[in-house]
Amino acid sequence: MQSSNPSTGSGQRLQTFKLGLIGYPVAHSLSPKIQNAALKFFGLNGDYSLFPIHPDDKQGLKDLLGCVRSGEITGLNVTIPYKQNVMEFLDELTPTAKVIGAVNIIYRREDKLIGDNTDAPGFLADLRKFVKKDTGKQANKNALILGAGGSARAVVYALISDSWKVTIAARRLEQARQLTSSFRNYQLRINLQSLNLPTFKVSNIELIVNTTPVGMFPNIDQSPLPKNIALSKETRVYDLIYNPRETKLVRDARAQGLHATTGLGMLVEQAALGFELWTGHNPPREFLWNAIEN
Ligand code: NAP
Repeated sequence: MQSSNPSTGSGQRLQTFKLGLIGYPVAHSLSPKIQNAALKFFGLNGDYSLFPIHPDDKQGLKDLLGCVRSGEITGLNVTIPYKQNVMEFLDELTPTAKVIGAVNIIYRREDKLIGDNTDAPGFLADLRKFVKKDTGKQANKNALILGAGGSARAVVYALISDSWKVTIAARRLEQARQLTSSFRNYQLRINLQSLNLPTFKVSNIELIVNTTPVGMFPNIDQSPLPKNIALSKETRVYDLIYNPRETKLVRDARAQGLHATTGLGMLVEQAALGFELWTGHNPPREFLWNAIEN
């Protein structure tokens, strides 16, 4: 996965790092806590603000991006609904953002606005910790992804770049097929299976990743997997959702004695990678975790 060298960024020349998140809505975001803690850790001037831009406010979007172009803002994170439709206003996409087809971070390099994606490397960094911590050995590499939306694309990209064999299960096979065709230049095996059960199969799967919002607050009693499905003892479960901290999917998996985690680690990793792209500093993860938990 490639990203531009942060040391050449104009953010380095600025004494103040103006950072922020563009999306709608954004009020629930944990990013200000994480990024402001990182600024504090390195003693850097600046702040991380929320920029809620209504989807009808195209001018508002352009004006905000103009501030990044002028250097008034150092960089932005991007969330729903702008991860795709911000791309037309940028000068370049990194190879990672291009393949995934979504941008979650914007920065400036030599007067150009660059769109990148730290969800994929953030997921992979946290997955590696999760697999290593829980098994002490390299897992086999068959993964089942639930959902085929934006974050599924980042997860698939991360997994195939780490030699996993990927199966997609989605309620809309058409969406899953579109995802597959975006990755046609990569050597991967994507089998489609419908989330419409009871034909659902989870045999020979070492990793299940939930990329659907099923189980997210306030619908915390829902799980994307069917009731009473028996998972193999070797299966690990990674739920991208981080609110609540323990989803029903993760609770059910743990009740079967399986290793399972929610997505806070991915959030922290993608934030840390973003901070480094903007400032050139690589923040210690424990410090960022403390910022969320306090
Ligand atoms: P998205 O682009 O809307 O994709 C969601 C996917 O889930 C789509 O394929 C959607 O299918 C499917 N889906 C939705 N409801 C479903 C249901 N009831 N049953 C089966 N499939 C369903 O959303 P996203 O941006 O990928 O985000 C998905 C989740 O990941 C969110 O909870 C988000 O908070 C989380 N996330 C976490 C991190 C992190 O750092 N941990 C990063 C990114 C995202 P349809 O298109 O048919 O609705």
